[in-house]
Amino acid sequence: MHSMKNHGLPILLILLMSISSSAQHKNTRRMTGSAAKGPLSAGLKVAPDLDKRLSKFRRVKMPFNRTGLTAREQQMVRKLVEACGYLESIYWRQSDPEGLALYQSMAASASPRDVKLRTYLKLNASRFDLIDENKPFVGTDPMPLGRGFYPAGLTRDQIEQYVKEHPEQKAAIYDQFTVVRSKDGQLEAVPYHIFYRPFLEPAAKALRDAAKLSDDPAFAKFLELRADALLSDDYFPSDLAWLDLKNPKFDIIFAPYETYMDSLLGVKGSYGAAVMVRNERESKKLELFQKYVADIQDALPLAPEDRPSKRGLETPMEVMDTPFRAGDLTHGYQAVADNLPNDPRVHEQKGSKKLFFKNFMDARVNYVILPVARKLMEPAQAAKVSGEGYLQSTIMHEICHGLGPAFARTSAGKVSIREAIGHQFSGLEEAKADVCGMFSLKWLVDHGALPKEKLQEFYASYVGGIFRTVRFGTAEALQLSLRARGDSAECKWPIRD
Ligand SMILES: [Zn+2]
Repeated sequence: MHSMKNHGLPILLILLMSISSSAQHKNTRRMTGSAAKGPLSAGLKVAPDLDKRLSKFRRVKMPFNRTGLTAREQQMVRKLVEACGYLESIYWRQSDPEGLALYQSMAASASPRDVKLRTYLKLNASRFDLIDENKPFVGTDPMPLGRGFYPAGLTRDQIEQYVKEHPEQKAAIYDQFTVVRSKDGQLEAVPYHIFYRPFLEPAAKALRDAAKLSDDPAFAKFLELRADALLSDDYFPSDLAWLDLKNPKFDIIFAPYETYMDSLLGVKGSYGAAVMVRNERESKKLELFQKYVADIQDALPLAPEDRPSKRGLETPMEVMDTPFRAGDLTHGYQAVADNLPNDPRVHEQKGSKKLFFKNFMDARVNYVILPVARKLMEPAQAAKVSGEGYLQSTIMHEICHGLGPAFARTSAGKVSIREAIGHQFSGLEEAKADVCGMFSLKWLVDHGALPKEKLQEFYASYVGGIFRTVRFGTAEALQLSLRARGDSAECKWPIRD
């Protein structure tokens, strides 16, 4: 599974980060005297319902809690935030270079029309509306499938034809970390570390500065390796070091991991970043869960051969607050959990890390799930929906992806579950994780690991979460994510009964 992000879902949160980034401020051009001239966007075709679109978003503060952090630690966080600012700059250039130019051109305009347009450009990091199938909300040009990764107008067929004629260039053109450009009728793949060097160099420096301020040698080593990776495009050694971190107090996501933005070949990575601070209270609870994972596997109502022992195995999991995000983590859908990195070589050698973003989860519950639950659930049950209940059910969902049978037993012998189920695998796997997650919470309550009074809260929060997902319609109609597909499948039970 790539990640737990439901790309393409409506976003209802605008996140106002309370740490200011000097890198970001530098990008704002200061111009004077243009305010009196009327809107700079006057000559552009702008969606007439921009106000309505903006009203779908809500501004939510994501404060940086400094309590308990030393001055040095705060200084380190500031360095990490500074580094994020550079990835943000790259992200825009990947997403929509022309949109960025338009955004910057209106920086000093006080015209309400320009201000609104700028806000909407910033939310989407492009001229294309993420919650309206990427249709343009300014101008009439449709979104280029290849975004800023490929020359304008280049088609998939042309690329395929080109690499047939130039097989030696195929690997570079299809590489996750290259930008494709055309030069004298030829295609050229330029590595990210060269193409984006003006941003990657200062980003790497900021990470190294942060490493010097870190009191955690393992984290400092990771930061150094990640700085190297930015300047070589080889993320493997730093990914391994990232998985070696043991309950770090601070952590970051900082890489071009996801490839969703590239609709032409689906291979180019877009930069995303997050600064994370460990949520001590919730992390402690997570440790408790992990202690029981093997027992829960043993308790599943399955034949013994379908529940291979989980003793001695552990996936790193962190419950973090993310006071700052940039790039693909801050524009569009706001993830509340993630599973990284995506590199299968890393999975094979070390596995992956599951991250839960507590402050974003609270925001989702308070501003999205609760209002929906109050409309659709019995008042007494809706009142039981809580951020904590949602976090616990999400955590158990993630743990449960790893539980249950590892193989299907067929007449042809052992077959992977994915292969045995076929195209319905993803939805069913999500449903399994959900049901198994609820089973696990009940098991933990029955065995005294969680307080009995909490059980109804877990159930209600889980159901509230389902309503949040299905209100967007069925999976097929809206091309929702795997998670949504799983949720919808489960909902058929109560409806049929
Ligand atoms: Zn899942």
